[in-house]
Amino acid sequence: MLKQSARLYNEGEEMKKKEFKTESKKLMDLMINSIYTNKEIFLREIISNASDAIDKLHYMSLTDKKIKVNKKDFAIFLKVDKDQRTLTISDNGIGMNKEELETNLGTIAKSGSQDFKINNEHKKDIDIIGQFGVGFYSAFMVADQVKVLSKKYGEDAAYKWESSGIDGYTIEAAEKENYGTDIILTIKKDSEEENYSKYLEEYEIESLVRKYSDYITYPIKMEITRTELKEKKKETDEDEYITKTEVKTLNSLTPIWKRDKKKVSEEDYNTFYKDKFDDYETPLKHMHIKAEGTLEYNALLYIPSHAPFDYYSKEYEKGLQLYSNGVLIMEKCKDLLPDYFSFVKGVVDSPDLTLNISRETLQQNRVLKTIANSIENKIKKELETMITEDKENYEKFFKDFGLQLKYGIYNDFGMHKEKLQDLLIYTSSFEEKTTTLKEYVNRMKEDQKAIYYACGETLDKIKMLPQVEAAKEKGYEVLYCMDNVDEFVFMTLHNYMEKEFQNVCGENTSFDTEEEKEETKKANEEAKEMFAIMKESIPDIAEIRFTNKLKDHPVCLSSKGEISVEMEKTLSKMPLNNGLKAAKVLEINQNHEIAKTLQKLDKENKEELKDYAKILYAEARMIEGLPVENPTEIASLMCKYLAK
Ligand code: ADP
Repeated sequence: MLKQSARLYNEGEEMKKKEFKTESKKLMDLMINSIYTNKEIFLREIISNASDAIDKLHYMSLTDKKIKVNKKDFAIFLKVDKDQRTLTISDNGIGMNKEELETNLGTIAKSGSQDFKINNEHKKDIDIIGQFGVGFYSAFMVADQVKVLSKKYGEDAAYKWESSGIDGYTIEAAEKENYGTDIILTIKKDSEEENYSKYLEEYEIESLVRKYSDYITYPIKMEITRTELKEKKKETDEDEYITKTEVKTLNSLTPIWKRDKKKVSEEDYNTFYKDKFDDYETPLKHMHIKAEGTLEYNALLYIPSHAPFDYYSKEYEKGLQLYSNGVLIMEKCKDLLPDYFSFVKGVVDSPDLTLNISRETLQQNRVLKTIANSIENKIKKELETMITEDKENYEKFFKDFGLQLKYGIYNDFGMHKEKLQDLLIYTSSFEEKTTTLKEYVNRMKEDQKAIYYACGETLDKIKMLPQVEAAKEKGYEVLYCMDNVDEFVFMTLHNYMEKEFQNVCGENTSFDTEEEKEETKKANEEAKEMFAIMKESIPDIAEIRFTNKLKDHPVCLSSKGEISVEMEKTLSKMPLNNGLKAAKVLEINQNHEIAKTLQKLDKENKEELKDYAKILYAEARMIEGLPVENPTEIASLMCKYLAK
């Protein structure tokens, strides 16, 4: 794991100085030389670690009877010593033993730093610091020496970790009375650019705690020293001062989700989110729920503005933090969120939950189920409101999380489709804006029978599909579908407001009048033998026919039956696709010059007719975004006819 001491600090001496892991070194360097203007966040980071450490001990005490702690004693203490220039942050949490000091502080913590790319040139300092909870190391932005004195709960020995920066750290045995951790920062001397001494001022510390750490659920206490004028007995007495010390709790202790909504600012909500869920971007929306009545619970839920990097991977874990009356009982409660809303982050707090609720019983817990249902409805309502009232943000949301909603419709045999269908949005040919299915149907022309859609890899490719042009020509709106799952979603939905979904590239999609249909049918009957000859050279094709639906394009590819060309592309990427293929139909524009040429060749030169069939099929595949399977042959055929 940790690269052990590559260099001895003082040969022969017992205490060896160890090197930080390379990544940690770079991060540390960044911190020490930071020009970041928001250095004050170091306090938030350290207090948040202290609170986590108390959480851990608290949580353990709930499940392990042997651990005897009094909930009332849990606290974080701050102490300033101006003469020594130290600021000490102490907690009575779980503490760390020697190994933990080494692994936790000698190397970058895993959380928050997974996609941490350290930039050597420091150009991205600000982004990095602002983006990630860089945690413990941020202490080096304001301190030139950091000591960590810690004693793990249940163990006898205490240890001191110490570092003055980049060249390493030491760990040695130490004395400490109680379990927990003291972080002792020796604050840097003031420089021309920076006033560090302010971090030794009680009022400054107090205001930082209120600003960044007010949500912490354990009391953050500080010894405040006041100097007061002693009462004068006589007018002539000299002024005499006395100092008084008192311990003051700096935070308000009511967790943000329990506070009166009117008293919580937008900034409070956002700061809490960023801090708690390690996100550097402001969330798109927050929902502060206070449910009363038969079931009492408070929840603070967030819709992030972007998907975490591992969102669509197996590593991503959904869940909400679960509290019972302000006490954390589960870090990620999966059962509170359905898969299709797995992007939601937040906390749920209910006095109706028992403290020793275990993972096994959560499944059957009635209270939890009721809360989960209620939360699901709230999320759905919030998203629906966003569509109508804040479309721009909804589009942003959908860009990252729309796919998850689509899977939600498609999965579980379509069980949740009714719940989710109104949350879908698609870019459509109507002003090229996004539309919901409802908006689409409400705009449908009177004679329009189906909801038309077209699939492809990119918007540009879809727009260029001949069938899309044809549909637009007739005044029909087309939904542009770029996700592989789209067509499967439509198959699952089957219809929306009694309108079926139809792929504009489907064989049965026709925008013709009865008369035009009749005309095409006649042309196809007459050309039957010609098509049979053409088919001889392209056996891959299920059918060849004339069509009236193409405007300028000579050919297009459609499909017969259940599997469309687009689905074939998706299926072919799956490991067990059983060679499923679309039954392809080569459609030739009956109004195009090429139709006449083919008919001429049918009479004069059947071999050339077969060559033409091959070229036209290759062309149609290209338009559809399918590979040409015999490129060499097609290339030489093209040359043969170009040279004529
Ligand atoms: P993070 O908090 O994101 O994991 P940090 O660099 O802030 O990263 O901290 C690294 C690790 O050190 C923490 O995960 C925790 O295990 C440990 N740690 C830090 N401060 C304390 C503390 N006060 N008490 C116990 N463990 C702590």
